[in-house]
Amino acid sequence: MSLVEVRVPDIGDFNEVAVIELLVKPGDTVQAEQSLVTVESDKASMEIPSSHAGVVKELKVKLGDKVSQGSVLLMLEAQEAAAPAAPASPSPQGGEAAKPAASAPVPAPVASTYAGGADLECDMLVLGAGPGGYSAAFRAADLGMKVVLVERYATLGGVCLNVGCIPSKALLHVAAVMDEVSHFESLGVAFGKPTIDLDKLRAHKSKVVGKLTGGLSAMAKMRKVTVVRGSGSFVDPHHVAVEETSGDGQQKTGKTQTIRFRNAIIAAGSQAVRLPFMPQDPRVVDSTGALELASVPKRMLILGGGIIGLEMGTVYSTLGARLDVVEMLDGLMQGADRDLVRVWQKMNAPRFDNIMLKTRTVGAEATKDGILVRFEGEQAPKEPQLYDLVLQAVGRSPNGNKIGADKAGVTVTDRGFIPVDIQMRTNVPHIFAIGDIIGQPMLAHKAVHEAHVAAEVAAGEKSAFNARVIPSVAYTDPEVAWVGITEDQAKAQGIAVKKGLFPWTASGRAIANTRDEGYTKLLFDAETHRIVGGGIVGTHAGDMIGEVALAIEMGADEVDIGKTIHPHPTLGESIGMAAEIAHGTCTDVPPPRR
Ligand code: FAD
Repeated sequence: MSLVEVRVPDIGDFNEVAVIELLVKPGDTVQAEQSLVTVESDKASMEIPSSHAGVVKELKVKLGDKVSQGSVLLMLEAQEAAAPAAPASPSPQGGEAAKPAASAPVPAPVASTYAGGADLECDMLVLGAGPGGYSAAFRAADLGMKVVLVERYATLGGVCLNVGCIPSKALLHVAAVMDEVSHFESLGVAFGKPTIDLDKLRAHKSKVVGKLTGGLSAMAKMRKVTVVRGSGSFVDPHHVAVEETSGDGQQKTGKTQTIRFRNAIIAAGSQAVRLPFMPQDPRVVDSTGALELASVPKRMLILGGGIIGLEMGTVYSTLGARLDVVEMLDGLMQGADRDLVRVWQKMNAPRFDNIMLKTRTVGAEATKDGILVRFEGEQAPKEPQLYDLVLQAVGRSPNGNKIGADKAGVTVTDRGFIPVDIQMRTNVPHIFAIGDIIGQPMLAHKAVHEAHVAAEVAAGEKSAFNARVIPSVAYTDPEVAWVGITEDQAKAQGIAVKKGLFPWTASGRAIANTRDEGYTKLLFDAETHRIVGGGIVGTHAGDMIGEVALAIEMGADEVDIGKTIHPHPTLGESIGMAAEIAHGTCTDVPPPRR
């Protein structure tokens, strides 16, 4: 046995990236190439594998530390004569474009053999009916396949439609209108203080969700997709056993049916991470619990300063809650340029009593008066704090280890991701995987595009996932949206870019809307002048970022965008004007410096 320092290998363009997750602790036995820590830059998160097998003696990094190539991660008592593994390349889990493979290499399991019969047969079985699953099923049916879609819950649509994107936006819309109206008194129109009927608000949210999920069921019927209700698990590479479920949740009825398939697409998604030390108490919720809107707390803690937490915080604060947020990294809404986030933070400062950065939650206790939470870190309060509601929004973990994938011979990483190639194939060629279960970014629009690729490849088409960029949006107020390379990332990686920044104080529409705090920023390759990224902060930023994504996909330059006639007066014309500013031809701002 010898003590070795395990260092960060060559991780490409990444420098000074933050450690966001520790995957091992002292005393753990690790294999060579097993993931040790997860690091995150503005571009992507990735797991750093071990160079040796052995026993972890001491961690040399803690959460929030910044590491680069060569940084020592931990001390390892290496197994005797263990030759260092070839420095495995870390596996990106996201980025400005899709990176399907999701974690360190894991040996493929040996598939089981099933000799029994089947109750149903199909060309394509899709496991999970979220945005990935239903899109895959519908595309496969449109391509002529006989499709079975397996879903454990009563409605189609998965996390996004039922407990994610859609209900959160239904509530955010109400909050945005309430906030907007509250400023109208200064414009000469007073509406009075709003009264809130939580039952009606919940009913509104449910109606929105019901309209969309009902629409999906109708479209499944139109396409003759057979929907099977139940929890599915592979029994071999061509069979899935489905335990029937009923009611609103996953109550098992005791009936099971076996489905034989030629091809399968795994779209079983992800679930919210719960911190093990948080008490089981109705006042400690994840995003699904927060969306239930049981009551409006006086004092609410958001654990994790990412998009989901801040969106839910916006809703609760507009309804009357005072907010605290705790984030172990050095800023909220990681991934977006800091200058964009600053605009959001300035506007939203009145919602918060405490923004605790570089701080961790280390313990909590359910008391009669509330949830008493203890913190550690740079901005931790000395005393434990009492909250009426604690929202855990610390990330989501994939469901890869819960579907019997090993019986089908499908590789799943230790964290539950399923690695795939750019055609969405797993290591078993007729089984595909898409959506949250294959890696970051965990976004519905990514899942849908992957779904189409998987169905098309299964149908024999030459399809592949080769999107250059995937946009991100925080639907807060103001919204923050970005796509491609960010300015912070360009600086950190020494990428030479030319910037066009159009302040909304020069936008007629933004001024007319009394919302001119935002701006639109475009980044162009300094040599080719082609657009490489963009960020927008302001109302409706999310609705506009698609144009920037299209421009990047089309390889547009500043003249293409600037000379595209945008309608006036719109917020969208800020994109054309940002391009003109980069080119030096904008007449809506002071003249360029000569
Ligand atoms: P999921 O939507 O997770 O669907 C997987 C489905 O598989 C589920 O219905 C599950 O019940 C089913 N399933 C799992 N295992 C089995 C099994 N064994 N048998 C049968 N069925 C099974 N993304 C955005 O792009 N924009 C947003 O604004 C946005 N807002 C969000 C807000 C919140 C609060 C949350 C939590 C998420 C949000 N997301 C958003 C993320 C988005 O919801 C996910 O990225 C998306 O739903 C992933 O789609 P999916 O098809 O991969 O998986």
